[in-house]
Amino acid sequence: MGLLEDFVAWARSKSMWLVHYCAACGAIEFPPVVTSVLDWERYGYMPVPTPRQSDLYAGMGYLTKKSLKVVLRLLEQMPNPKWVVAGCNCTATGGLYWDSYATYKRLDEFMQVEGWVPGCMPTSDDWFALLTYFYNKVKERPVNDKGSRKLSDAWEKIRKWEEMEREWAEEYWESLKKTEIKVNYQFEEKFPECVERNESLKLCLTTVEAGRIREALKKLYDEGYTLINNINTVDLPKNGVIEVYYIVEKPLEGDQVWVKTYVPRKEAEIDSIHDIYSLAYYIELETHEKMGIKFRGHPNLRKWILEGNWEGPPPLRKDVDIPKWVIKVHYGGYAYGR
Ligand code: SF4
Repeated sequence: MGLLEDFVAWARSKSMWLVHYCAACGAIEFPPVVTSVLDWERYGYMPVPTPRQSDLYAGMGYLTKKSLKVVLRLLEQMPNPKWVVAGCNCTATGGLYWDSYATYKRLDEFMQVEGWVPGCMPTSDDWFALLTYFYNKVKERPVNDKGSRKLSDAWEKIRKWEEMEREWAEEYWESLKKTEIKVNYQFEEKFPECVERNESLKLCLTTVEAGRIREALKKLYDEGYTLINNINTVDLPKNGVIEVYYIVEKPLEGDQVWVKTYVPRKEAEIDSIHDIYSLAYYIELETHEKMGIKFRGHPNLRKWILEGNWEGPPPLRKDVDIPKWVIKVHYGGYAYGR
């Protein structure tokens, strides 16, 4: 390269702006790279909130089927030359999520990747090593190099996956019709009998009327199911109900009982069990906030995770239009579009 080209390549390597999009837990060790002692601005790096002024995308962890589409859109909006580096086992092999139905396993099946760093999660030093490796690499690249390209069949691969998934879903629903299993939302109390038992998972699913939930859980607690793993909820707008699952476990044996009940969507209320299972205090708070269920007798139902200025309805209800509420509350009703 001539002197001018050398200078341009050096200047480019010294002014890398990274689009601030952290896809997953791999980003957790990234902040120390930005702050002292590592202080990556010494190398001309800095994060920016917009792809249109960015040169670099760092893949920080697994890519779900939704977030990969966002990353491709970001890459399309970044000007040339643009670069992609990636960290985490999940971006290279699928990592912990190698058999997940919700993630893609390899970033380089969708775009060219200039450098990798493994780890779960990579440490700050690992990230810094990757950035310095990349910095030296860019210095050697010709000035007309356009950098990392989105692979031409990236969107086609996604389209094929989505088509396959639709077919699988149809096959599944068809197969259900042929079996004796009925998806039935009519409620029938069976407690303490199991309506479904899985011996290998040591799991029993039982059902109880909402009004008897405390009685059922107290009985299970006294039988040794002293750990509550979660309170799961499933919103069923067409049926007008919310399914509520209490998952309790015998800590040493691992035996689990799932106690299922229903509450009506319009008046979603049920007795609190925080005095039986103390951990339920927090789970009920979150369930109240996200799904809008009132836990009678809970001493402090309030917003806990959502921002204080969230004025919308419970965001995990299926008929809630979250983008509309976010735009209304945070942007004064103004939706940026083109
Ligand atoms: S490799 Fe580990 S830290 Fe990185 S995204 Fe996967 S699970 Fe998270």
